[in-house]
Formats: sequence, structure tokens, C-alpha cells
Amino acid sequence: MGKHSCLKCCCEGETVEQRTVFLDTNANKRTDGAFRNKEYVLHQTGSTPLVDLENFDIIEDIVVGDRLHQIDIGVTKKLLNIWYIGVLRSTKRWNREQREIIHHRLKRQTFPFETQRKLRSLDDLSYWKGAECKAFLHYAAPVVLKGLLTGQQYQHFMLYFCGVTIFSSTVHRRLYNAGRAMLKKFVENYAQVYGKAGVTPNVHSLIHIFEEATRLGSLESYSTYVFERKLGQIKNNLIRTSYRCLEQAIRRILELENFNFPRKRQPFCNPFYKQRGQTITLCIRQGFTMRNDDVNDWFLSKDEEVYKFISVRRCQGGLRIICRMFSRVFEYFDQEISSMDLFIFSAKITDLQTTEMELECSDIKCKLVKTIEEEGETMVFFPLLRTLVE
Ligand SMILES: [Zn+2]
Repeated sequence: MGKHSCLKCCCEGETVEQRTVFLDTNANKRTDGAFRNKEYVLHQTGSTPLVDLENFDIIEDIVVGDRLHQIDIGVTKKLLNIWYIGVLRSTKRWNREQREIIHHRLKRQTFPFETQRKLRSLDDLSYWKGAECKAFLHYAAPVVLKGLLTGQQYQHFMLYFCGVTIFSSTVHRRLYNAGRAMLKKFVENYAQVYGKAGVTPNVHSLIHIFEEATRLGSLESYSTYVFERKLGQIKNNLIRTSYRCLEQAIRRILELENFNFPRKRQPFCNPFYKQRGQTITLCIRQGFTMRNDDVNDWFLSKDEEVYKFISVRRCQGGLRIICRMFSRVFEYFDQEISSMDLFIFSAKITDLQTTEMELECSDIKCKLVKTIEEEGETMVFFPLLRTLVE
């Protein structure tokens, strides 16, 4: 990685323990005009045809904050490597007892079907995919890391958790400035917590997410996950041998197109449900499904109450949701920002009311992921990102 390689700012990298690290968070922003004038002599090693694109800002329209490579693999997985494997000289890895605790805590969690339902053991960390790191960050980390990190590491990590959470949904747009400050502080304090060698280009790039999210939308709307998924489909379904891969893929695609398959998916109209035995699956809207299985059955209403989905009932052509509510919920954290501002709550199972009530589908804000805190009865609820929409 070159010392002048940041695409967004003029910060100069330095070599620490044979790695290039970027410690400067206040360097001047690069500009489209200066790039086209070839003013960045040390940065521009050649020319690019991208400058020929019309209405294209060569700095601002190029994304560095791809959540798959930069965030989920680039920072989250790296942090797990630091804590679990011990890849940085300055930071001792978890001891055997701590490793057993995290195993036990992760094993107890089951997440909804939209995400990674189970996280693999951290012994298989090198095989963890981006989606696993993402589920770990958003639905497990603040709970399972408690007490395993030092107070300073945990506080520092929570800056990252909150910052990335804020930029993961346009629902949090009003918090973007706060998210920017948190990620900047995370990057600035990184060297203090893990040593200079940890401040990799991926960590540095977090300071540039604010501008990208403001210009292009939330991290979800321009991540490379969809492209990777498509590449996986091409690789697994269309290519049989390693000989002339491109030709094979093109031929299979042409064959498929000639078949003229009917479109599988109908556009979503109204909420509907299916029942099989005691299991009820309710589809609220595109990409938002609930099931009464003690995993996929938690949701947040628009007036910010936490509910458990029990059943559904037809009423005057529409559907009414039968559910139970927590009589009280709690703020889970309050450093930097209140967890409630991010729609994160903790609750005690004993506070789940026994009386059933009814809600309209339109009363629902988002699906919640339940994370079990300890042996006790406390659970923490995190909004399922893809259901948190405007
Ligand atoms: Zn930069």
C-alpha cells in the first residue's frame, strides 16, 4: 500500500512494523480539479479512463467505504483477529478462559433467517465471511464483548459500533454528524488502544464514510455484497471447469435467456401469512418476514415499544397482528449516544406481558434481533438493518 494511496485525502502514510499506516485524520481533501490537473504527483502514478465519464467527480463519486471489504472484513474481522488470535504485538490476545467465555456466549445466540443464523466458532475465524462479521458487529458484539475487552477497548469499540450502525441506515440520517465524530474519534484513538501498527488504510478510511453516505446514501446501498453474491452464482452455477471460464459463463447465460423463464417473483402488494401446523409466517413487506419461533418474532412498533409476535388474524380484509408487549424496556448504553436513539433496547423476559393485544401491520417499524446477555433473563434487541427503512 503506497504512502500516498488514500483516494480521498492527502494524508501521508508511514511505515510501522513493516506496515503502512495512516495516522493523520485532518489532511486536506483531494479535489476533482486538482486530480484532473495531475497535481497529486506522488498519488497519481498513471492515467485513468474514468476521467472521461461525464458528470463524474473523480474523488467524490468513487467509494472507499465498501462495507464488505473495508468494514466487515477490513475492520471488524481485524479487531477479532487482534483479540482472539493476537495479531498485534502491542495487544495480548484473550486467554483460555476468555476464549471459552466468548465461545459460550456466541453459541447461545440464534439470529433471524435474513442474516447469518448461527455464527461459527472463533476457532474458524479465518473462514468467517463478510456477512458473519457483519452479523457479529450489529447483533452480537456490544453484548458478547462486555467484560472481555478492557474498559478502554470496549468504549473505543462502541465508537465504531455506533458510527457504523448510524451509517448503515438512512433512518439514522439525523445522526450522521454524530456518527462522523464517533468514527473520527475511533480512528484517532486507535493507535492509543492498539498501537500505531493497527491503523491500517481500512481503519483510516472510516473518516471518509460521512461524505460518502451523505452523497450516496447508507452503507447498505452501495456495498459490494450483491456483486460478490452474483459472482458466486456465476462461479457455482455457470462454470464447470477452469478452462475458458468467461466463454462458459456467457454461453450458459445466453442459454438461460433463450428459455425465457417466467418471472419468479411477483411484486409485493399486501401483507400475507402462511400457516404450517403451529408455525405462522407473516410477511409484512418486501424483505420483512416474521415467524412465531422465538427468534424471528420480535419487532419494534412505530411508537417504539418492543413486542413479541404471537399470531395473526384476518379482519375486514386486512391482517391484524396478535402480540405481547414488554411492560418496560431499558436503555442499553448511553456513552456517546443513547442506545435508544439507535432503537436498541434491553428488556427482562419477566416483563413480557401475558395479555395479548392487536396491532395493524402498518404500526410496525422494524424487526428486532434478540441477543441473550448472560445466563439470566436479560435480552438486548437490535433493529434488523434491512427492515429499518424509511
Ligand atoms: Zn484519507
